[in-house]
Parts: sequence; structure tokens; C-alpha cells
Amino acid sequence: MADPVHNVIIIGSGPAGWTAAVYTARANLAPVVFEGASPNIPGGQLMWTSEVENFPGFPEGVKGPELMERCKKQAERFGSTIYSENVEKIDFSKRPFELTSESGEVHRARALIIATGANAKLLGIPHEKDLMNQGAGVSACATCDGAFYKGEELVVVGGGDSAIEEALFLTRFATKVTLVHRRDAFRASRIMEDRLKSNPKIALALNAQVCELVTEKKKVGPFEKDWLVGVKLKSTKDGSVTSLKAGGLFVAIGHAPNTSLFTGALEMDDKGYLVTKAKSSRTSIEGVFACGDVQDSHYRQAITAAGSGCMAAIDAERWLGEHSS
Ligand code: NAP
Repeated sequence: MADPVHNVIIIGSGPAGWTAAVYTARANLAPVVFEGASPNIPGGQLMWTSEVENFPGFPEGVKGPELMERCKKQAERFGSTIYSENVEKIDFSKRPFELTSESGEVHRARALIIATGANAKLLGIPHEKDLMNQGAGVSACATCDGAFYKGEELVVVGGGDSAIEEALFLTRFATKVTLVHRRDAFRASRIMEDRLKSNPKIALALNAQVCELVTEKKKVGPFEKDWLVGVKLKSTKDGSVTSLKAGGLFVAIGHAPNTSLFTGALEMDDKGYLVTKAKSSRTSIEGVFACGDVQDSHYRQAITAAGSGCMAAIDAERWLGEHSS
């Protein structure tokens, strides 16, 4: 017997992917979800977030991994089939589309929903990922984590609009924010640069790179864990090293969308994000829909990703209805 042709395959398991799964499952489309496997973390960027306080419906907050686990259960409850594998290849020229998974198995689907997300770029210095994972002083999202740093002296890295936006936002909580940038000219827009420079709570450390994270043991509940207390800065001009107190470090040096699988097939912008057609999740190929951070370099929130996952599910359902012959 030939392998079944699925109505819809969803690639990715962050808030966008799971929301698309819940909606398509409830629409009786029996979706198949490829949730990914190492080195991609099923659940996406929220797996690196400790507490999520801004997702509606959780007045006490919720841990990022727990939120993703709950979304997965909800998708399963309505009959989604989940593969804990990465997709290795997609043949967009065939109808139905043909996906080859890591195990070499071929899966076919009439419609695809891409929700592969994006990853914050990191500095790549020792302990950065661990501290971020444990919510112990390193973050790549001021909107998500800024409120945990009331009364602290904070450091933001980057010279683009995101870094400046994060630095300005963090002045609501911090006593002082130092923006560290590797050059002395900003990539950010002039208006943002002006706002940055006129904010009395913000100090600049230009021509500098964060080269080391300084930690101390801190008691958190019954546990002791390493916590960020400072950073070391290396001058990009003369290599000299200075120390700076930091209760929190926010890395804002850009994001990279996970789109290598679609290179040459789907339309992307100059940063590699998938292009979706106005007010929809439609991509440049009929029957292929995209949602979440893989197509959004602007809002990048769990709730906006979830919302766009819903859009993709509705778009896919309608498209399948119109092309069901
Ligand atoms: P971006 O514009 O690419 O800026 C990244 C910044 O990080 C650059 O200043 C870069 O330095 C620095 N950087 C990169 N790698 C680094 C490293 N390894 N170590 C230290 N610094 C490093 O990224 P973005 O700020 O996230 O912005 C992305 C897009 O979203 C932009 O188009 C931006 O305009 C837009 N955006 C707009 C708004 C707004 O309008 N309110 C807000 C946020 C973002 P160099 O300059 O030396 O390369």
C-alpha cells in the first residue's frame, strides 16, 4: 500500500508550530508535526527562557519549556501525529510535496506549514549559553526578561535598532544601562541613536567587545547557582581589558532565521526571513504557508508567533478546501 498523503505537514514546534497543529487538528486535517531533534531544540527559543510572564492566560507566569509542553499536549489531544526528527530535504516541485526526514523516510503532504523559527545570535563566549538557559543573568530578550532586573546595573551588546530599543526599554527597570558596541558608529537609525544618547540612564562603551562573563554563587531557593555579576570588556582598538559591574547582560546582536532548508525554493528577504504575502501566511509557493519568527523579524513574541500559527492553519485549511479535487 502506498504511503498516505497527509493533508498538512507542519515543520517546527515553537508556539507557531503548535498553534498551527491545534487549529489544523481541530479542523479534522490530521496534521503531522516534525518537532525537530538535536541540534534543533523542540520547542524553539522558549526552551531557553525561564519565566514567561506576558503570555495571556498565565497570571502567575509559566516556564518557557512548560508552556511548550502544554501546547504540544493540546496538539496531541486533537490528533496530531508528531515525529521527533528533523526534516532534511523538501521537494517543492512535486505535488503532493515530498519531505525526506533524517531517518530517510519520505512523507508526502498537500500543504506545508513552516514554523522553523529563528535563533538569537550569541557572542559565543564561555558560560553564555548556560547562564541564559538557567535565567542567571544572560538574556537575548529584554521584553521577555527585563522586568526580572529591577534596580540592577545592566549591559546591552549591539549597535543596531534592537540593541538600542532594548537599552531604552531596560532603563524602566535598571539603575543604569551600559550599551557595548564593537565600533563607534551605530548601525541603528539616527532617531534611535539620538534617543539613546539623550537618555541619562544610558552609558556607552564603544569600540569594545564583551570577552568574559564574571559570575558569583548565589542562593536561589534551596539551590546555589552561578549568577552573572559583571563582564569584562576588551577594546577593539588596543586590546586593553576593563571590568564592568552587570546584574544582567542582554545580547542584541541580531537573529538568524532557520531557513537553510528552503534556500533557492522560497522567497526570502535580504536577511533570509521567509516572505509572506500581505495579511496572510502565504509564501511564494502555492500551498506552502509560513508562521512565527521564521517570517517575522519585527515582533518576535511568543504570542505573535502563536497568532500567526493560527493564521497559517486557517490559510492552509481554506487553501486545501479550494484545491481538494
Ligand atoms: P542588526 O541591525 O543586524 O544589528 C546587529 C548589531 O549587532 C550590529 O551593530 C552589529 O555590529 C552587532 N553585532 C553583530 N555580531 C556581533 C558580535 N559577534 N559581537 C558584537 N556585536 C555584534 O540587528 P538588529 O538590531 O536585531 O535589527 C534587525 C532588523 O530589525 C534591522 O533591520 C532593524 O532596523 C530592525 N529593527 C527595527 C526596530 C525599530 O524600528 N524600532 C527595532 C528593532 C529592530 P556592526 O554594526 O559592527 O556590524
